[in-house]
Amino acid sequence: MSKETLTRFVDEQFHVDLHFPAFLHYCQQANIAVTVLSDGFDFYIDRIFEKFKIDVPYRANTLRIVDCSLQAQFPYHSADCGDCGNCKLSFAQQVKQKGTKIIYIGDGHSDKCVSAFADVVFAKGILAEHCVKKGIPHYTFETFADVLAVCKDGLFAEITR
Ligand SMILES: [Zn+2]
Repeated sequence: MSKETLTRFVDEQFHVDLHFPAFLHYCQQANIAVTVLSDGFDFYIDRIFEKFKIDVPYRANTLRIVDCSLQAQFPYHSADCGDCGNCKLSFAQQVKQKGTKIIYIGDGHSDKCVSAFADVVFAKGILAEHCVKKGIPHYTFETFADVLAVCKDGLFAEITR
């Protein structure tokens, strides 16, 4: 695989929630730090962030093209968890050690282990099913417009108090 082929694939297949930039803007104004955690790969996150002019830190697995083949690496793998490539729980634990509260927004398998640990959870898809099954309190959402509405409606004020 060449870099060009991979880039074209990313451009065609990957999209960002249209409301995500507005959400980020609101977080910046409210002085709420945002980190993107992905059990995907840096290669397409870099590309997507560049394309949609998104400027936040992220943590993901790494993908390198070596002699026309793809090599994946999982620097944030956790031996405790076993479910995730990039264990989001270990990142959340580091954040919480500093006394920071966590609003967690997710939709997939790799969001499960961290969901019971976060202070507030927004969930859809597989994560929403998981939260229902485990009795984890959560807001459901479809797009970041839903998340933003709850944040504006007093959640940020409450969590930063
Ligand atoms: Zn995990």
